[in-house]
Amino acid sequence: MKNWSLQKKWTYSSAISIFFSFLLMCVILYFSIFNWMLISEKKIAQNTLNEVVLFLQSKGPFITIQDISRNHTLLNQIVNQKQSIRLLNKDGIELLRINDASNFPNFTKETLSDFSREVINNQHVYFKMEELNFGTFSGYVEISHSLENFSQLMNYILIAMVIFALISLLISALIGYSLSSVLLKPIKELRDEMQRASQNKFSKEVSFHYSSKDELGELLLIYKELMNEVSETIKRQDEFIYNVSHELRTPIQVVEGHLSLLNRWGKNEREVLEESLNISLEEIQKMKKLMEEMLNLAKREHAKEISQTNILKVILLLQKEYKLINPKVTISTEIDPVYSVNIQQTALLQIIRNLVDNSIRYNENDPNIFISVNQDSKNIIISITDNGIGISSHQITKIFERFYTVDEARTKSKGGTGLGLSIVKMLVLEYGGEIDVVSNLGDGTTFRVHLPYK
Ligand code: ADP
Repeated sequence: MKNWSLQKKWTYSSAISIFFSFLLMCVILYFSIFNWMLISEKKIAQNTLNEVVLFLQSKGPFITIQDISRNHTLLNQIVNQKQSIRLLNKDGIELLRINDASNFPNFTKETLSDFSREVINNQHVYFKMEELNFGTFSGYVEISHSLENFSQLMNYILIAMVIFALISLLISALIGYSLSSVLLKPIKELRDEMQRASQNKFSKEVSFHYSSKDELGELLLIYKELMNEVSETIKRQDEFIYNVSHELRTPIQVVEGHLSLLNRWGKNEREVLEESLNISLEEIQKMKKLMEEMLNLAKREHAKEISQTNILKVILLLQKEYKLINPKVTISTEIDPVYSVNIQQTALLQIIRNLVDNSIRYNENDPNIFISVNQDSKNIIISITDNGIGISSHQITKIFERFYTVDEARTKSKGGTGLGLSIVKMLVLEYGGEIDVVSNLGDGTTFRVHLPYK
């Protein structure tokens, strides 16, 4: 039973349960018919007996048993084909018998208040004996009513019921089997898909033939969405690992090259020593930044905290920060102090800092950045406009991808990692917002961050 398939269990259990309910119905029906028929047989026998007694007693006070024996045509008509009547004297000696269709048990002097069922010479009969006095006769009258017809009918009904029960067993097994194949089809599909997913390491897209909108259909849909999400995540992870290892390879090679140069020649040459150490330190700084950004990205993917943050407060903090680091940078603003958004302060700081960093990094003039805040029906829109080099239209769609850089040499020289905008986009999406960009090559860039009020 443990190793049976669900379909087998379903088929057997539905067949057995339908069969047993049908059997129970048959048994109840059989015994009801049985009792009802017995009662009606008894009534017929009792009627005959009553009529015989009435007939005999209506013959007047002087009638003798010999008179009756000579002419019992009328009595014959009262007694039916399956019954026998006999008159006995007080000693139990048979004086008259009408009809020989049915057997009688041996005489005892006990009269019966009700019919008894007897089996005489393999024949089932209803039997009753009463005391009888009429004319000059005093003795007993007995009736034996054959139950042969009744037994035949009950046997016939029993056989019919057994045949019907077997047919019902067959039909219920067939119905159970076909019903289970229909209902288990989507579950089988799900099992096959799961097997395929585990063999292919989630690399193939999940699809099902079952398209009904019932509970099973919903289950398959949920599984499909879940699996597509899993495969998407795995794909992204693989991509991320590939990109990270690719990005780390170059600085490691540079550091390695310089260290072996130092090992061979530079120990005593101060100039080589200094240059190699500086380059190595620079590369290590780059790696450190890359690691920090990646860690940030990974951390952000797990945690999402929300609080109300005043935008002007964040911008003022940044203005102060840049004044210290890079006095050449001008950040002008036009912000109503009432504007706040539903985002953690550090997250908003990181979004705007990354965008301002880019405005400074990809700029050939003294960086001039303008930050304004507006609102529409749903969102607060923070716009950051710079006077930088701009982005061409065919590259603008790719800049939010991880590790994408427009000009690799330039980006590296400026300390970029290709992760800044993907971090910005991820943060904005995480807080239910959107980001877009408008730019023309040589004409500055505007990034617009849309964040919901609540
Ligand atoms: P990076 O760390 O290299 O700056 P980002 O993801 O922040 O990486 O940016 C991706 C690319 O988009 C950059 O290489 C740069 O060419 C371009 N870019 C981003 N911001 C600006 C901007 N304000 N002006 C011009 N180009 C930009």
